[in-house]
Amino acid sequence: MQGIVQGVGFRPFVYTQASSLGLAGFVFNDSAGVTIEVEGKKDALDAFQRALREEAPPLAHVNTVIVEAIAPRHESTFIITQSKANSERSALISPDTSVCEECLRELFDPADRRYQYPFINCTNCGPRFTIVQDVPYDRAKTTMSAFPLCPTCQTEYNDPLNRRFHAQPNACPTCGPQLQLLLWNKKLARFSAAEGCEDAQQHTREPLVQAAQRLASGAILAIKGLGGYHLACNALDVDAVQRLRQRKHREVKPFALMVPDLATARSLCQVSATEAAQLEARQRPIVLLTQRPDSPLAPGVSPTYNTLGLMLPYAPLHYLLLHALATLSEPGHPVVLIMTSGNLSDEPIAYRDEEAYQRLKTLADGVLTHNREIHIRCDDSVLRVAGGDTQFFRRARGDTPEPLTLTQETPVPLLACGGHLKNTFCLAKGRQAFLSHHIGDLENLETLTSFQEGIAHFQQLFAIAPAAVAYDLHPEYLASKYALSLDVPHKIGVQHHHAHIASVMAEHALPGPVIGIALDGTGYGTDGAIWGCEVMHVDYQGFQRLAHLAYVPLPGGEQAVLQPWRMAAVYLQQSYGPVLVDLDIPFTRQLNPVKWRILDQMIARGINCPPTSSLGRLFDAVAALLGLPIDSPVQRYEGQAAIELEQLASTATGMCESYPFAIGEQTTAELDVGPLIRAIVDDIRQEVPASRIARRFHSSIASLLAQTCTMARERTGLNTVALSGGVWQNRLLLEELSGLLADMAFQVYTNRRVPPNDGGLSLGQLAIAAARLRTELSLKETVQEHGLLQEQEVSYVSRHSR
Ligand SMILES: [Zn+2]
Ligand SMILES: [Zn+2]
Repeated sequence: MQGIVQGVGFRPFVYTQASSLGLAGFVFNDSAGVTIEVEGKKDALDAFQRALREEAPPLAHVNTVIVEAIAPRHESTFIITQSKANSERSALISPDTSVCEECLRELFDPADRRYQYPFINCTNCGPRFTIVQDVPYDRAKTTMSAFPLCPTCQTEYNDPLNRRFHAQPNACPTCGPQLQLLLWNKKLARFSAAEGCEDAQQHTREPLVQAAQRLASGAILAIKGLGGYHLACNALDVDAVQRLRQRKHREVKPFALMVPDLATARSLCQVSATEAAQLEARQRPIVLLTQRPDSPLAPGVSPTYNTLGLMLPYAPLHYLLLHALATLSEPGHPVVLIMTSGNLSDEPIAYRDEEAYQRLKTLADGVLTHNREIHIRCDDSVLRVAGGDTQFFRRARGDTPEPLTLTQETPVPLLACGGHLKNTFCLAKGRQAFLSHHIGDLENLETLTSFQEGIAHFQQLFAIAPAAVAYDLHPEYLASKYALSLDVPHKIGVQHHHAHIASVMAEHALPGPVIGIALDGTGYGTDGAIWGCEVMHVDYQGFQRLAHLAYVPLPGGEQAVLQPWRMAAVYLQQSYGPVLVDLDIPFTRQLNPVKWRILDQMIARGINCPPTSSLGRLFDAVAALLGLPIDSPVQRYEGQAAIELEQLASTATGMCESYPFAIGEQTTAELDVGPLIRAIVDDIRQEVPASRIARRFHSSIASLLAQTCTMARERTGLNTVALSGGVWQNRLLLEELSGLLADMAFQVYTNRRVPPNDGGLSLGQLAIAAARLRTELSLKETVQEHGLLQEQEVSYVSRHSR
C-alpha cells in the first residue's frame, strides 16, 4: 500500500482489523509504504480489503493498494514485524498535525501521567515533517532520537493496540523534551535561564507559568513552535503591540493572532461556516477574516486593514499557554496572542536555537524554548475563503509535504525551481508532485540557503534525483540561476504567466487548452517586457498571447514598484500628454515638479523604463491617484497599494457601473485603459467619494476581462477559463469576474490547493516541463527507431526515458 501510511497508526489499525477477522499474517513498514500479508477465508479477506480503504485512521491517506495472490503459508497469528529500508524510497511523510482530541483530554486530566506535558502526542497527532531527518520514518531518523524512551513509554510504543504504538515522537515528562524559559540578561548580553527554571527536569511547569505571567504583564516572548519561533505578546496590550511593531520594523502589515477557541475568533471577526471549518481543521492554518468594528484589539495589531489572520492553537504548548493566560486575564477580556513569525520583516522564520537567539535578541524580552530540535523550518500556512472555497496565500505547515497527484507520470524525475518572491520549489517522480513549504523571497543569503537545503532534504526524503529542471525565464532570478547551474541533462525555461495558468490546470487535472487569465505584478515576458495582465491560449506545451494590457513605461524598474506615484504620473501622461501637470486634482497639485521632470526625461529617453503590461502597476497608479497609501510617499511592500485599494472599494455602497475602456483589434489585442483613467480623473474632479471610484475601477477591470474572454472564446472556441497570479488574491475582483463569466456560461477554474501567487509557480513549471519532456522523449524514441540518431544520443535517450 502506498500513501501516507507511516507514523499515522496504520499498522495497529491493520493489526486490529486482521485479528478481529481471524486473519493470520504480518504487516511492516518499508520505504515504499506498508506491506501486508494475510491469509484466511475469502469473506474475511474481502472485508479486510474493504476496511483498509474505508476505515483507515484519520491521518492516513491511502493512494495505491497493490494486491497479489500467493500460496497459503498456514500461519496462525497476525504480527507486526520490523520496518524494512528498501533501495527504492517512496514512502510519504505526514505533515505536522495539531494535537488530537484524545491527547488534549489527557493534557488537561490531572490523573494522567502526561498532565500539562507540552510535548504530548500520539499516532494521530504531533510533529512529523519538521522533525524527520530521513526515511523510513522511525524514531532514530527524527530529532526525537536524542530522547531514549522510558520503560512506560517504551511499553506503549511496543503495544500494537496502544494509541502510541510506534508513535515516533512519543514522550512523557520523564523521558521527553523539556520546556525552558530564557530571559534577556543585560549583564551577560545573552538569554539565560529565568529564576526557578534552571533545572528543566525538576521545574516542568515553572517555565510555562512564568511565561504566561510575563506575557500578561506586557512582555514580548519568542516561543518555539513546530516549524520555528513565533514572537508573541498580548494583542490587547497597546504598548506591547506598539513595541513589537517598532522592533520588527513592520510598518503596516497586520500581525497574525492566536485565540483559544472559535468563540473568541467570533468575538473579533466575522466567521462563516466555511471559515470556522478551516480554523478548526487539523492543519490549523492562519485564516484571513474580516475584523468586527467593535473588536477590543490594540489598534497596532492591524493599523490599516480590516482583515486579520487568526489561528487556533495547534501544539499542546499553545493550549497550555492560552489556558494559563486565561486564568490571569481579567473577566470579560478575551485571551488573544499575537503570534507573528520570529524574524525581522523580510527574513525567513528563525528555527535553529543558537541562530534564533542571536536574531531574537533585539526582538524579544525572553524565549520560551525547548530541547527538541526542529529539523526543517516551516511557516504557518495562510489561507482565506473566497468564492465559497479556500484560497492559499501561503502553503506550509499542516499541508507540506503532502503530495499533489499529477494526471500523468512524469517521464523523468523533475525539479521546478519556482519564482523569486514567495518562492516554493516542486519535485516530482511518477505521478506525485511534492510542492515545498513556503521558502520566501529569494533576496538574501539566508533564504537562498533555505531554498538549497530544502531541495536537498526533499530529494533525500522522497528519493528523487532530478534528471530535468524547470525554471523561470527571468535571467536575474536566483532560483533560475540555481537551476542553470545544475548538472542535469534537461533544462526547461518556462514563461512566468504560462506557469501560473498551468498550476491551475495541474491542480484540476485539466487537459487543456484553456483560456488563461494571468494577473500579477511582475513576470518576465518572452519579448523582455514585464508582463502582468495576460489573456492567453494555454496548453501544457505552450501558449499564445491573445490580449494584454497596453504597454506603459515602468520608470526606474523596481523603484516604480515601490513608489506608486510614478505609475500614476505615467498613466496620466499616457492619457493626457504633457498637460497632465495642469490637471486640477490633488495628485497633480502634490506632484513634485522636479521629480516629475526627471521621470519625464527618463521616459522620453527610455532610460531604465522597461515596457510593462502589469495589472499590479495599474492598481498602484489608481491607488496613488486616489491618495493611497494615505500618508506615505513611498510604498512599503509590493502589493500594498492594491490591497488598500481593494479595502477602500469594499466600503462602497450601491451599484457601481464600469468605466469605459477599449479592446484592440490586433491578433494580440491591446487593452487600452486610457478612457478609464480619464473617467477616473473626471470623477475625482467632481469629488465622487474615493471608495466609489475604487469600486468602479474593480468593476471595470472585471468587465474588461469578461469582454476579453468573450473575444477569446470567439477566436479559439474554448469555454474553459483558468485564473491565476497574485492579483487574484483580490477577492472583490475574483468574485466579480467569476460571476460575470459564470453568467456567460464559461467554466471557471482557480487555484485551490496551491497559492495563486508565485508560491504556486513551481507546480505550473513542473507540469509544463513534464509535458514538454514527454513529447521530446517520445519524438526521440521515434527517431531512434528509425535509426536517425547518432550513437551517443541514443545512449543518452535510453538513459533517461525509462
Ligand atoms: Zn494525539
Ligand atoms: Zn516516557
